[in-house]
Amino acid sequence: MTETYADFHRRSLTERDAFWAEQAQRVDWQTPPQQICDASKPPFARWFVGGTTNLCHNAVDRHAASRPADRALIWVSTEVGQERVYSFAELQAEVEAMAAILSAQGVSQGDRVLIYLPMIPEAAFAMLACARIGAIHSVVFGGFASVSLASRIDDATPRLVISADAGSRAGKRLAYKPLLDEAITLAAHKPARVLMVDRGLAAFERVAGRDLDYAELRQRHWGQPVPCAWLESNTPSYTLYTSGTTGTPKGVQRDVGGYAVALATSMDWIFGGKPGETYFSTSDIGWVVGHSYIVYGPLIHGMATLMYEGTPVNPDAAVWWSLVEKYRVTVMFSAPTAVRVLKKHDPALLKRHDLSSLRALFLAGEPLDEPTGRWIAEALGVPIIDNYWQTETGWPLLTVAHHIPGVEAVPTRFGSPGMPMYGYDVKLLDENSGAELAEPNQKGVLVIEHPLPPGALQTVWGDDARFVSTYWQSVPGHARRPVYSTFDWGLRDAQGYTFILGRTDDVINVAGHRLGTREIEECISGHPGVAEVAVVGVADQLKGQVALAFAVPRELPATSEAALALEGQIMKRVDEQLGAVARPSRVLFVGLLPKTRSGKLLRRALQAVAEGRDPGDLTTLDDPTALAQVKTLLHK
Ligand code: ATP
Ligand code: MG
Repeated sequence: MTETYADFHRRSLTERDAFWAEQAQRVDWQTPPQQICDASKPPFARWFVGGTTNLCHNAVDRHAASRPADRALIWVSTEVGQERVYSFAELQAEVEAMAAILSAQGVSQGDRVLIYLPMIPEAAFAMLACARIGAIHSVVFGGFASVSLASRIDDATPRLVISADAGSRAGKRLAYKPLLDEAITLAAHKPARVLMVDRGLAAFERVAGRDLDYAELRQRHWGQPVPCAWLESNTPSYTLYTSGTTGTPKGVQRDVGGYAVALATSMDWIFGGKPGETYFSTSDIGWVVGHSYIVYGPLIHGMATLMYEGTPVNPDAAVWWSLVEKYRVTVMFSAPTAVRVLKKHDPALLKRHDLSSLRALFLAGEPLDEPTGRWIAEALGVPIIDNYWQTETGWPLLTVAHHIPGVEAVPTRFGSPGMPMYGYDVKLLDENSGAELAEPNQKGVLVIEHPLPPGALQTVWGDDARFVSTYWQSVPGHARRPVYSTFDWGLRDAQGYTFILGRTDDVINVAGHRLGTREIEECISGHPGVAEVAVVGVADQLKGQVALAFAVPRELPATSEAALALEGQIMKRVDEQLGAVARPSRVLFVGLLPKTRSGKLLRRALQAVAEGRDPGDLTTLDDPTALAQVKTLLHK
């Protein structure tokens, strides 16, 4: 007999402890948990209390013991033209060598290790080595500028930093060491040691007594056994910053046991991966997707993970599909922003390779607009699974889980990432009163009732007060239980599908009408001449605010008349679909939109520039020319 998804979801909440006790069996415990969930100190929650386990043991050692020769880590770099494959046994040897190096340098349990590396295997070794000995890793996206790196060094106060001579992007080398040296100069905290991986890409200076050579130490410690430290489930495993799309990044802190259980469960039920198969996430280890679904998730589940250094379009826009074919990838994870890049290339490239191994493509990170979703679905011929989550949650909060035994599969629906996942008590609240919106099709703030499920953040690193005030006190008056705000707008239809309508600070008020910029964007992106669009509200003396659109056209209009004509068509479209209040005051055509390094639109910077204000923290901005372009246009 099959259970409906709604019943199953309800059961995950009403029978919470039994539900998660069963899932806890997916991971090895040295001491089993004494209590499944301690929710006695809201808004905090502790999972699998008293249980001791280790992320590295579950990701590496247990598989190395049972099937040592199976593939664990596949690394492909189209930047330097190299590929390397590590079996579970080889991966364990590398991780142990790295762990031995760290221990020899005085890194012990609870110490922080900052990882500032490109997408190379050593990055995974470093994360797993920290997990092995109970050191807390803090990965900073490789290539972040010195100022962003310095602020993270000061926040994490690492004993040791692991870095490399250089990264590479679209064939351009980016030297890391000068950025790191500069960051350490700027930072108040001075790490005692810097472990350098020398890829032979860029010469660098060594600071005597501080800088160490990885190749040399790897050889020295090779073969030295380093046991996994058994850690109480609630010991911090890592810290990671949010993308900084809406403001200053927040240092998310995660546990050990809850994270292991949440990932193991999601790999099976949400992603439908099978041990022995290959999982390919195109993200970066600098982001949460890289932590959960490049390193820990697939490995814990006994899958090989494909780690890729390169762009989606080099040597051509079929490179990912060539990897799917070569390594028989079954499950793939990417972002809408990457699909939009591919969409600008010849669709025939998607047909060049044998993609018969691929079962599904998961997309997350930003709203998946319907045209983009349909395009990739038709091109690949496999289900496209939108999934919504945050750095804070660690794993999908809304999606459609197709692989839960005995539970009815929920069909996908374009425009909606799906339904609340098991374990998440999701509600929509009125932003002013905090009252629950029980009726369908009402727009409210998407919140999660306490306690957050396993795998979600424990707190903000070193700042419990910020954790409480930022996440748990922003929506008023909901007395029953504390609620965690996602800071996203949501709407639930009569069938229970939840739609994300943008961020709570992306709402504009035109002459008393509240409009979501996301809805206007969705409408404009449906115009066949538009590849990408960003809409922001700018202050207007008469109307309070007006919408302003920045569009990347498929082809830049050749003349100003052509631009005017396209602008007119877009405005007419908005008029017809959303009404005249939503019509942007102008549509400006740009070649590029300002995005964070993780590919998210930086609307707050666009808005600030459009209003002639200081754009604030731009350290997460990817390509500064995008914002410069916008400035020039605005001043024309
Ligand atoms: P910050 O919190 O520092 O401003 P950020 O919210 O961009 O940065 P992330 O944790 O990387 O940092 O992003 C999570 C956010 O991304 C979500 O809150 C949501 O706004 C957006 N998002 C992620 N996945 C989806 C999706 N499938 N559909 C719509 N929006 C999504
Ligand atoms: Mg956020």
